[in-house]
Amino acid sequence: AEEALRQSQKMEAVGQLTGGLAHDFNNLLAGISGSLELMQTRMQQGRLTDVDRYMTAAQGAAKRAAALTHRLLAFSRRQTLDPKPTNVNRLAADMQELIQRTVGPAILIEVVGTMGVWPALVDPSQLENALLNLCINARDAMPDGGRIIIETANKWMDDRAARQHDMPEGQYLSLCVTDTGTGMTPEVIARVFEPFFTTKPIGEGTGLGLSMIYGFAQQSGGQVLIYSEIGQGTTVCIYLPRHYGEVADDEGAALVTNLPRS
Ligand code: ADP
Repeated sequence: AEEALRQSQKMEAVGQLTGGLAHDFNNLLAGISGSLELMQTRMQQGRLTDVDRYMTAAQGAAKRAAALTHRLLAFSRRQTLDPKPTNVNRLAADMQELIQRTVGPAILIEVVGTMGVWPALVDPSQLENALLNLCINARDAMPDGGRIIIETANKWMDDRAARQHDMPEGQYLSLCVTDTGTGMTPEVIARVFEPFFTTKPIGEGTGLGLSMIYGFAQQSGGQVLIYSEIGQGTTVCIYLPRHYGEVADDEGAALVTNLPRS
Protein backbone atom coordinates (compact mmCIF):
# COMPACT_ATOMS: atom_id res chain seq x y z
CA ALA A 1 0.00 0.00 0.00
CA GLU A 2 2.85 2.39 0.78
CA GLU A 3 4.06 1.48 -2.67
CA ALA A 4 0.86 2.91 -4.11
CA LEU A 5 1.54 6.27 -2.48
CA ARG A 6 5.08 6.26 -3.87
CA GLN A 7 3.60 5.39 -7.26
CA SER A 8 1.20 8.29 -7.06
CA GLN A 9 4.05 10.65 -6.19
CA LYS A 10 6.04 9.14 -9.04
CA MET A 11 3.12 9.81 -11.36
CA GLU A 12 3.09 13.42 -10.27
CA ALA A 13 6.77 13.47 -11.21
CA VAL A 14 6.05 11.76 -14.53
CA GLY A 15 3.42 14.37 -15.21
CA GLN A 16 5.91 17.13 -14.59
CA LEU A 17 8.55 15.30 -16.61
CA THR A 18 6.29 14.70 -19.59
CA GLY A 19 4.86 18.20 -19.33
CA GLY A 20 8.41 19.53 -19.40
CA LEU A 21 9.30 17.26 -22.30
CA ALA A 22 6.29 18.41 -24.30
CA HIS A 23 7.34 21.98 -23.68
CA ASP A 24 10.94 21.32 -24.82
CA PHE A 25 9.64 19.38 -27.79
CA ASN A 26 7.46 22.30 -28.83
CA ASN A 27 10.41 24.66 -28.58
CA LEU A 28 12.46 22.40 -30.82
CA LEU A 29 9.63 22.18 -33.35
CA ALA A 30 9.34 25.96 -33.32
CA GLY A 31 13.08 26.14 -33.98
CA ILE A 32 12.82 23.72 -36.87
CA SER A 33 9.93 25.47 -38.54
CA GLY A 34 11.60 28.85 -37.99
CA SER A 35 14.77 27.61 -39.68
CA LEU A 36 12.76 26.16 -42.57
CA GLU A 37 10.96 29.44 -43.03
CA LEU A 38 14.19 31.43 -43.09
CA MET A 39 15.64 28.94 -45.55
CA GLN A 40 12.64 29.37 -47.82
CA THR A 41 12.90 33.17 -47.74
CA ARG A 42 16.60 33.08 -48.54
CA MET A 43 16.06 30.68 -51.41
CA GLN A 44 13.26 32.79 -52.84
CA GLN A 45 15.61 35.79 -52.67
CA GLY A 46 18.32 33.75 -54.32
CA ARG A 47 20.64 34.39 -51.36
CA LEU A 48 22.04 31.00 -50.51
CA THR A 49 24.78 32.13 -48.13
CA ASP A 50 22.93 31.38 -44.87
CA VAL A 51 20.97 28.36 -46.04
CA ASP A 52 23.55 25.86 -44.90
CA ARG A 53 23.59 27.34 -41.40
CA TYR A 54 19.78 27.13 -41.09
CA MET A 55 19.85 23.58 -42.33
CA THR A 56 22.37 22.60 -39.66
CA ALA A 57 20.26 24.31 -37.00
CA ALA A 58 17.12 22.46 -38.12
CA GLN A 59 18.95 19.13 -38.15
CA GLY A 60 20.32 19.70 -34.67
CA ALA A 61 16.87 20.50 -33.31
CA ALA A 62 15.36 17.42 -35.00
CA LYS A 63 18.03 15.21 -33.41
CA ARG A 64 17.40 16.64 -29.98
CA ALA A 65 13.65 16.10 -30.43
CA ALA A 66 14.29 12.45 -31.34
CA ALA A 67 16.43 12.04 -28.22
CA LEU A 68 13.60 13.45 -26.12
CA THR A 69 11.03 10.98 -27.43
CA HIS A 70 13.50 8.13 -26.86
CA ARG A 71 13.79 9.14 -23.22
CA LEU A 72 10.01 9.10 -22.88
CA LEU A 73 9.70 5.69 -24.53
CA ALA A 74 12.45 4.22 -22.37
CA PHE A 75 10.63 5.50 -19.31
CA SER A 76 7.26 4.08 -20.34
CA ARG A 77 8.74 0.65 -21.07
CA ARG A 78 10.13 0.37 -17.58
CA GLN A 79 6.82 -0.58 -16.04
CA THR A 80 6.50 -4.35 -15.99
CA LEU A 81 3.22 -6.09 -15.31
CA ASP A 82 2.78 -9.01 -12.97
CA PRO A 83 -0.87 -10.15 -13.17
CA LYS A 84 -2.15 -12.55 -10.52
CA PRO A 85 -5.54 -13.64 -9.23
CA THR A 86 -6.56 -10.79 -6.97
CA ASN A 87 -9.17 -10.50 -4.27
CA VAL A 88 -10.44 -6.97 -4.78
CA ASN A 89 -12.26 -6.95 -1.41
CA ARG A 90 -9.04 -7.51 0.44
CA LEU A 91 -7.14 -5.08 -1.73
CA ALA A 92 -9.65 -2.33 -0.95
CA ALA A 93 -9.68 -3.13 2.78
CA ASP A 94 -5.87 -3.16 2.89
CA MET A 95 -5.75 0.23 1.20
CA GLN A 96 -8.28 1.95 3.44
CA GLU A 97 -5.86 3.22 6.05
CA LEU A 98 -3.43 4.63 3.50
CA ILE A 99 -6.28 6.27 1.59
CA GLN A 100 -7.62 7.83 4.79
CA ARG A 101 -4.19 9.25 5.58
CA THR A 102 -3.89 10.57 2.04
CA VAL A 103 -7.28 12.26 1.77
CA GLY A 104 -7.26 13.62 5.33
CA PRO A 105 -9.69 13.57 8.25
CA ALA A 106 -12.39 15.76 6.59
CA ILE A 107 -13.44 12.80 4.46
CA LEU A 108 -15.24 9.73 5.74
CA ILE A 109 -14.31 6.56 3.90
CA GLU A 110 -16.57 3.57 3.72
CA VAL A 111 -15.48 0.28 2.18
CA VAL A 112 -18.28 -2.03 1.11
CA GLY A 113 -16.88 -5.37 0.06
CA THR A 114 -19.63 -7.42 -1.53
CA MET A 115 -19.68 -11.04 -0.38
CA GLY A 116 -18.17 -13.53 -2.79
CA VAL A 117 -16.80 -10.99 -5.21
CA TRP A 118 -15.09 -12.70 -8.13
CA PRO A 119 -11.32 -12.61 -8.46
CA ALA A 120 -9.63 -10.55 -11.15
CA LEU A 121 -6.42 -11.36 -12.98
CA VAL A 122 -4.52 -8.10 -12.64
CA ASP A 123 -1.30 -6.65 -11.40
CA PRO A 124 -2.38 -5.80 -7.83
CA SER A 125 -0.05 -2.83 -7.51
CA GLN A 126 -1.62 -1.28 -10.60
CA LEU A 127 -5.07 -1.73 -9.15
CA GLU A 128 -3.87 -0.21 -5.87
CA ASN A 129 -2.55 2.79 -7.78
CA ALA A 130 -5.83 3.10 -9.65
CA LEU A 131 -7.86 3.00 -6.44
CA LEU A 132 -5.66 5.57 -4.71
CA ASN A 133 -5.89 7.86 -7.72
CA LEU A 134 -9.68 7.62 -7.82
CA CYS A 135 -9.77 8.56 -4.14
CA ILE A 136 -7.42 11.51 -4.65
CA ASN A 137 -9.71 12.72 -7.45
CA ALA A 138 -12.67 12.27 -5.11
CA ARG A 139 -10.92 14.32 -2.42
CA ASP A 140 -10.09 17.06 -4.91
CA ALA A 141 -13.79 17.24 -5.80
CA MET A 142 -14.68 17.74 -2.11
CA PRO A 143 -12.67 20.70 -0.83
CA ASP A 144 -14.99 21.02 2.18
CA GLY A 145 -14.93 17.33 3.00
CA GLY A 146 -17.51 14.65 2.36
CA ARG A 147 -17.81 10.93 1.86
CA ILE A 148 -16.02 8.36 -0.24
CA ILE A 149 -17.63 4.97 -0.75
CA ILE A 150 -15.47 2.20 -2.16
CA GLU A 151 -17.64 -0.67 -3.30
CA THR A 152 -17.06 -3.99 -5.01
CA ALA A 153 -19.68 -5.97 -6.90
CA ASN A 154 -20.19 -8.77 -9.41
CA LYS A 155 -21.92 -7.89 -12.64
CA TRP A 156 -23.15 -9.76 -15.66
CA MET A 157 -22.83 -7.61 -18.78
CA ASP A 158 -25.40 -8.88 -21.22
CA ASP A 159 -25.09 -8.38 -24.93
CA ARG A 160 -26.86 -5.02 -24.92
CA ALA A 161 -25.06 -3.53 -21.91
CA ALA A 162 -21.74 -4.82 -23.21
CA ARG A 163 -22.27 -3.24 -26.61
CA GLN A 164 -23.41 0.00 -25.03
CA HIS A 165 -20.24 0.21 -22.95
CA ASP A 166 -17.89 -1.07 -25.63
CA MET A 167 -16.79 -4.21 -23.82
CA PRO A 168 -17.21 -7.95 -24.47
CA GLU A 169 -20.30 -9.66 -23.05
CA GLY A 170 -19.56 -11.64 -19.88
CA GLN A 171 -19.00 -11.63 -16.16
CA TYR A 172 -17.18 -8.76 -14.52
CA LEU A 173 -16.37 -7.56 -11.07
CA SER A 174 -16.47 -3.87 -10.42
CA LEU A 175 -14.54 -1.59 -8.10
CA CYS A 176 -16.42 1.69 -7.76
CA VAL A 177 -15.45 4.88 -6.00
CA THR A 178 -18.28 7.28 -5.20
CA ASP A 179 -17.87 10.78 -3.83
CA THR A 180 -20.21 13.52 -2.68
CA GLY A 181 -18.27 16.18 -4.58
CA THR A 182 -18.76 18.72 -7.34
CA GLY A 183 -19.60 16.28 -10.11
CA MET A 184 -18.51 16.69 -13.73
CA THR A 185 -20.07 18.38 -16.72
CA PRO A 186 -20.71 16.24 -19.82
CA GLU A 187 -17.90 18.18 -21.53
CA VAL A 188 -15.43 17.15 -18.83
CA ILE A 189 -16.66 13.54 -18.83
CA ALA A 190 -16.11 13.39 -22.58
CA ARG A 191 -12.44 14.27 -22.15
CA VAL A 192 -11.32 12.73 -18.85
CA PHE A 193 -9.54 9.78 -20.44
CA GLU A 194 -7.34 12.02 -22.58
CA PRO A 195 -3.78 12.09 -21.30
CA PHE A 196 -2.94 15.50 -19.76
CA PHE A 197 -6.57 16.61 -19.66
CA THR A 198 -7.03 18.36 -16.32
CA THR A 199 -9.21 21.11 -14.89
CA LYS A 200 -6.89 21.53 -11.90
CA PRO A 201 -4.43 24.40 -11.46
CA ILE A 202 -0.92 23.99 -12.82
CA GLY A 203 1.19 21.97 -10.40
CA GLU A 204 -1.84 20.25 -8.85
CA GLY A 205 -3.18 18.06 -11.61
CA THR A 206 -1.24 16.08 -14.19
CA GLY A 207 -4.25 14.90 -16.18
CA LEU A 208 -2.71 11.43 -16.20
CA GLY A 209 -4.74 9.66 -13.50
CA LEU A 210 -7.85 8.63 -15.40
CA SER A 211 -6.03 8.06 -18.67
CA MET A 212 -3.67 5.63 -16.93
CA ILE A 213 -6.56 3.91 -15.18
CA TYR A 214 -8.34 3.61 -18.52
CA GLY A 215 -5.20 2.11 -20.09
CA PHE A 216 -4.87 -0.35 -17.24
CA ALA A 217 -8.53 -1.43 -17.49
CA GLN A 218 -8.30 -1.85 -21.26
CA GLN A 219 -5.10 -3.90 -20.92
CA SER A 220 -6.87 -6.13 -18.43
CA GLY A 221 -9.83 -6.66 -20.77
CA GLY A 222 -12.06 -4.35 -18.76
CA GLN A 223 -13.57 -0.90 -18.89
CA VAL A 224 -13.97 2.30 -16.88
CA LEU A 225 -17.42 3.84 -16.57
CA ILE A 226 -18.32 7.21 -15.07
CA TYR A 227 -21.61 8.30 -13.57
CA SER A 228 -21.71 11.89 -12.44
CA GLU A 229 -24.15 14.61 -11.54
CA ILE A 230 -23.27 18.24 -11.04
CA GLY A 231 -23.53 19.21 -7.38
CA GLN A 232 -24.30 15.61 -6.36
CA GLY A 233 -21.13 13.67 -6.87
CA THR A 234 -19.38 11.15 -9.03
CA THR A 235 -18.99 7.41 -9.27
CA VAL A 236 -16.10 5.96 -11.23
CA CYS A 237 -16.22 2.19 -11.76
CA ILE A 238 -13.42 -0.03 -12.95
CA TYR A 239 -14.83 -3.21 -14.52
CA LEU A 240 -12.51 -6.22 -14.75
CA PRO A 241 -13.28 -9.59 -16.32
CA ARG A 242 -13.93 -12.43 -13.88
CA HIS A 243 -10.94 -14.73 -13.46
CA TYR A 244 -11.93 -18.41 -13.61
CA GLY A 245 -8.62 -19.97 -12.59
CA GLU A 246 -7.56 -21.03 -9.16
CA VAL A 247 -7.56 -18.59 -6.30
CA ALA A 248 -5.24 -18.93 -3.36
CA ASP A 249 -7.27 -17.80 -0.38
CA ASP A 250 -10.51 -16.78 1.35
CA GLU A 251 -12.27 -15.42 -1.67
CA GLY A 252 -15.77 -15.28 -0.28
CA ALA A 253 -15.04 -13.17 2.76
CA ALA A 254 -17.33 -10.19 3.09
CA LEU A 255 -15.95 -7.00 4.43
CA VAL A 256 -17.88 -4.00 5.57
CA THR A 257 -15.78 -1.56 7.47
CA ASN A 258 -16.25 1.96 8.67
CA LEU A 259 -13.55 4.17 9.99
CA PRO A 260 -14.67 6.24 12.97
CA ARG A 261 -15.00 9.96 12.34
CA SER A 262 -11.88 11.33 13.95
P1 ADP B 1 -6.03 15.10 -12.66
O1 ADP B 1 -6.70 14.56 -11.43
O2 ADP B 1 -4.56 15.19 -12.49
O3 ADP B 1 -6.63 16.36 -13.19
P2 ADP B 1 -7.33 12.90 -14.00
O4 ADP B 1 -7.10 12.26 -15.34
O5 ADP B 1 -7.34 11.96 -12.84
O6 ADP B 1 -6.23 14.01 -13.83
O7 ADP B 1 -8.71 13.68 -14.02
C1 ADP B 1 -9.01 14.55 -15.09
C2 ADP B 1 -10.10 15.53 -14.70
O8 ADP B 1 -11.32 14.83 -14.49
C3 ADP B 1 -9.85 16.29 -13.42
O9 ADP B 1 -9.04 17.42 -13.63
C4 ADP B 1 -11.28 16.66 -13.01
O10 ADP B 1 -11.74 17.78 -13.73
C5 ADP B 1 -12.10 15.48 -13.50
N1 ADP B 1 -12.38 14.54 -12.40
C6 ADP B 1 -11.79 13.34 -12.19
N2 ADP B 1 -12.33 12.72 -11.12
C7 ADP B 1 -13.30 13.53 -10.65
C8 ADP B 1 -14.25 13.45 -9.55
N3 ADP B 1 -14.30 12.38 -8.73
N4 ADP B 1 -15.12 14.49 -9.39
C9 ADP B 1 -15.09 15.55 -10.21
N5 ADP B 1 -14.24 15.68 -11.26
C10 ADP B 1 -13.36 14.69 -11.48
